[in-house]
Amino acid sequence: MQYISPLIREFWENGKSETCPIYDMHGHMGSYHSIYFPRAGTAAMVRTMDEAGVRMLVFSHHTALFAPNLANTRSVAAVRRYPERLRAYCVVNPNYPEQLESDLASFETLHPEIYVGFKFLSDYHQIALTDDRYRPAWEYANARGLLILAHTWGGSQFDGPDVVRKVAERYPNVKFLLGHSCHGDWDAAIQLARDFPNIYLELTAVFDDRGVIEKFTQEAGSNRMLFGTDLPWFDPHHAIGVLLNADITDEDRHNICHRNAEQLLAAYF
Ligand SMILES: [Zn+2]
Repeated sequence: MQYISPLIREFWENGKSETCPIYDMHGHMGSYHSIYFPRAGTAAMVRTMDEAGVRMLVFSHHTALFAPNLANTRSVAAVRRYPERLRAYCVVNPNYPEQLESDLASFETLHPEIYVGFKFLSDYHQIALTDDRYRPAWEYANARGLLILAHTWGGSQFDGPDVVRKVAERYPNVKFLLGHSCHGDWDAAIQLARDFPNIYLELTAVFDDRGVIEKFTQEAGSNRMLFGTDLPWFDPHHAIGVLLNADITDEDRHNICHRNAEQLLAAYF
């Protein structure tokens, strides 16, 4: 039978913890085509965060990803509305390279109050992370030691482990968050975390595969793992439940839920 630690008991009884706040490092916002989200608006998402003890969400609005005419404006407005609870990734869409200059200029103005880094969605935008159209953003982030959250997926020609390795070698100062941890290619993700001290395994959708949390903890270390949900796509309570039921220690849970993120974000608060 599983050992029920005080932390587990606190979560089971209250649905959240006073001593283990959660930093969700991978969120989105707003409605999305072909799927219904019951709580996709800014205030509704903050309500979900309150229920699960999520102190801070770092996110990119769906319009920033898919409506280049709006770019990052809705992300910025949401952070202004909830400055204690939200920070944004500045989305760079390489299909619109003419916008890159204004994206970087807006980053310069709005960092660190609004932005803590950049978000790349290569699988959806269908341009590899190594492509030259991303280069100015990589170089900008590398020069300043900023966070980059990139969607990464096992087997992808745009952001699979081989592509990730190339950019990790090029930009050693970026704090490189592997969104979804090269989903499905868990061994490759672990190897990347071992080879590059600035790579973090972000756990959105990793929770769907039994045993991976334990594997990552043992083989990469919980000091390299970050809580994430794609909110409003997945519910933080699901992710929390997986972490509480996984065969890991409370120290690991603290690392994953808040300590690593607090360190990454320390420069901005
Ligand atoms: Zn995402």
